[in-house]
Amino acid sequence: MPRRPAAALATSGEVLRLIRTGEAVTRADIGRVTGLSRPAVSLRVTELLDRGLVVEDSEGPSTGGRPPTRLRFNASGGVVLVAALGASRAQIAVCDLAGEPLARAVLDIDVEEGPDVVLPLVMDTWDELLGDRPASLVLGVGMGVPATVEFAAGRTESARIMASWTGVAIPPIIADRFPAPVFLDNDVNVIAIGEHRAVYAGEADDLLFIKVSTRIGSGVIAGGEILRGALGAAGEIGHIPVRDGGGVLCRCGNVDCVDSVASGTAILRDLRARGHEVKTLADVVSLVRAGDAETMTVVRNAARMLGEVVATSVNLLNPAVVVIGGDVAETFQPLVAGVREVVHRRSTALSTRNLRIERSRLGPGAGITGCAHMVLDHILSPEAVDSPGLHLPRSVRSHG
Ligand SMILES: [Zn+2]
Repeated sequence: MPRRPAAALATSGEVLRLIRTGEAVTRADIGRVTGLSRPAVSLRVTELLDRGLVVEDSEGPSTGGRPPTRLRFNASGGVVLVAALGASRAQIAVCDLAGEPLARAVLDIDVEEGPDVVLPLVMDTWDELLGDRPASLVLGVGMGVPATVEFAAGRTESARIMASWTGVAIPPIIADRFPAPVFLDNDVNVIAIGEHRAVYAGEADDLLFIKVSTRIGSGVIAGGEILRGALGAAGEIGHIPVRDGGGVLCRCGNVDCVDSVASGTAILRDLRARGHEVKTLADVVSLVRAGDAETMTVVRNAARMLGEVVATSVNLLNPAVVVIGGDVAETFQPLVAGVREVVHRRSTALSTRNLRIERSRLGPGAGITGCAHMVLDHILSPEAVDSPGLHLPRSVRSHG
């Protein structure tokens, strides 16, 4: 029988994880959970206290039977800078180490103006939001962009909207001004992370997020972690073809991709072809609310085709919940209802037995939350904590 690794191997980083998650918040509990001896627990806790990662909550009477001192992760010991970029708007925030926004702003941008214009605007906004906080507080930076991202390199590939960004490695540009680890992912992945952490963590750790806006994309959370694939292109469901799409040429060169027949762009195009003067998705919403029969037909048709692709995805991934978000889903209840109907008809019985299909509950804040957690997952992971470097700035420890 293989010997279990000695319990003494639990590192300071793992002890921090127990404290952060609330699994063990006293020295005695840490000893019980890890099997570490009392001196070994003490050594690791002292190290975390010295590094400013943990603070002690002194509570209870100072004499008599002393209650065990509770340890708390020092979420106010640093900040992360985050930005969720869309085509025309950026959600920008400074968050604490628990992912809570301390200050936020919405910036009107034209992403097509390219990284030379947009990135300085975003960085200036971070500076403003930081206010009096010293730059040494910044422990990480996270950004979501409307493009496929080669995650490890932080490089944008085949930009969906922003052609001028293709092939640009963003982290070095940001790290030049904010010297901290920079993480970049596509906009849909960061929203999926945000939805999972803020709404479903611990309850539904297998989640498929579908964004239906101008474009269709998805983000996959498997076992609580975002699934990126080999290079970062996982979840690109927009270019899965549907049956009976009518032979629409997609901008990727194939025919009847779900993006080309069921996205917000496709819905607008189909309505215009039927003689409706619709300019934006808001116009479509008005028509749906007015009960316009032809509009309902177009939306239902889109829902059916989207449902086909979602049903296939559900068979492949067996998520506990499918969350549908983006401009289109937020405004068209008929779309979500249509998807639900097709998925329950077309997916396997086991994969739909307890499946929930829901509209996004987070709204525009999901990108900010997701970006923050993307960064925190890395900089506070046991591996990162156990490698030298992460010390919270002394100047702020008293705020803990
Ligand atoms: Zn396509």
